[in-house]
Parts: sequence; structure tokens; C-alpha cells
Amino acid sequence: MIPILRTAHELDAFHGGYFVPTMGALHAGHFALVQDAARLRSLGTRPSAKVIVSIFVNPTQFNDPRDLERYPRTLEADALGCQHAGADAIFAPDVSTIYAPGVAAVPPLPAVATTPKLEDAFRPGHFAGVCQVVKRLFELVRPNAALFGEKDWQQLQVIRAMTAEQNLPVQIIPCPTIREPDGLAMSSRNVFLSHEDRPRATAIIQALRAGAQADNPSDAEAAMRRVLESHGLPIEYAVARDAESLLPISAFSPARAARLLIAARLGSIRLIDNIAR
Ligand code: AMP
Repeated sequence: MIPILRTAHELDAFHGGYFVPTMGALHAGHFALVQDAARLRSLGTRPSAKVIVSIFVNPTQFNDPRDLERYPRTLEADALGCQHAGADAIFAPDVSTIYAPGVAAVPPLPAVATTPKLEDAFRPGHFAGVCQVVKRLFELVRPNAALFGEKDWQQLQVIRAMTAEQNLPVQIIPCPTIREPDGLAMSSRNVFLSHEDRPRATAIIQALRAGAQADNPSDAEAAMRRVLESHGLPIEYAVARDAESLLPISAFSPARAARLLIAARLGSIRLIDNIAR
């Protein structure tokens, strides 16, 4: 079995590699990131570079204490899956290692973490916690490259912007969203969907696909809302935005990528997803 590292000191032999930060309860979406990391390593000039997966349920990025408390924790199975996917080690630190006194201040947040009024508005404090933990993990793991899923599109833009603005020496590599056969984006929280709610969760991808057919952002937003409302899912947002800044746009243009993004509720679960337009 690959080693499960707990302290900064144990990471010494693993610096300069490919890094996949996670909160555990790993599924095929996470393992795809690990496989991508292993593939990039085999294609690169340093075949001895390591693939490290961190598993840390970061308390500072949860705005709902109940969500933190019930977040699934499955370390043994996670480690086995990571080994199969090509990882060399798991880094599973204690809270006291990440948030040792005098380290891990919240870094300055990029505009995309505060201006779009998407996740930033519906999960206040979330990106401060994400930036804090990712910067601290980068300091400890010291990777050359880190892989993040497109599933969390705003988070990906926040990490890219933070890394660029603070000149962090880490290449950020995006990975496509892995979905269930019916199109639902895989998520560690999907286990909380009830039997009755699970089929209705496909409304999210149906709404995104309907939005992608539209010729302009306002028609796309109307189309997404129609699908979500027809399935009875309370909407937090269903928007067409600039793919990088995540600010509103008045038209789709071949010169600038756009992204359709949804957050909606189903039972006690909050679902987010996005696709390119
Ligand atoms: P999490 O443990 O949920 O914070 O996710 C850890 C990493 O896995 C993040 O970069 C996520 O964007 C990514 N991820 C989560 N779910 C998926 C998915 N279905 N497809 C691709 N990447 C994902």
C-alpha cells in the first residue's frame, strides 16, 4: 500500500511532483485527476516525479457546520483507489499541521473569488478558506503542477488567478468533469441524495444542455431556469458568464469563451455543475 503521510517532514522526498488536492470520499472523478497526473508524469521529462494526493477536510471552507460534520470520510478506500490510479503517496495531515500557529494566513483573494456573486455569494467565506488551504498545501507539498476539476469551475478560476497574482511556482492543470452515465456530475455529496431525488438530479445537466442551444446569454439563462423549474429544483443561480472572470456577458462571442453555471437544491443537497458554451 502507498504511504499515508501525516507531517510536513515526511513530504521531503515528494517535492516537485504532481499534486491532487482533495477532501477525500473519493470517486471516479477524483481518480481521473490522479490518472491524469500519472499520465502527465509518464509523458514528462522527469519520470521520477511523484504523484501526491492530499486528503484533508478543510474546516475553514465550510460555511455550514452540519455539512462539515457529515462530510463522508473513507480514508482506507481512498488510499487504495489512489494507489490503483497511479499515486505514490497520500498526504492526510491533521488540522494542527495545516493550521500551525503563525502560518496559513488567508491570502489576498483574486477578483473572481468575490465579484461574480455565484459561489462567493451563496457560500460566504468559502473561497477565503479554499485559497488559505490551497496556498498552505502548496507550501507543504511544493509541487511543480497541481490538478483541479472543472466540476468546480469558479474554484478553478480562483486558484488559477491566485497562483498567477501571487507568483506561486505551481502549474495549474484543469481536468474535465466526470459524470454518471445519466449525466449527473460525480460528487462526494451525491451519496446523500435520496432514492426519490436521485433521478431528478439529471435536471441539472438537462438544463445546462438546453442553455447551450441558445444563441445569447439571456435566452440561455431562461432555458436553464425553465428546465430546473419544471423539475421543481429551487435555483440559487443559473447563469451564462465569461468563462474566466465569471462576470455577466451581453452576447456569446467566438473571441471569448463563455460558461454556463448552475447551483440548485435537491432535498437537503446543494448541486453545482457547469459546461462550456
Ligand atoms: P473535493 O474533494 O470535492 O474538494 O474535490 C477535489 C478535486 O476533485 C477538485 O479539484 C474537484 O474539482 C475535483 N472533482 C470533484 N468532482 C469531480 C468530477 N466529477 N469530475 C472531475 N473533477 C472532480
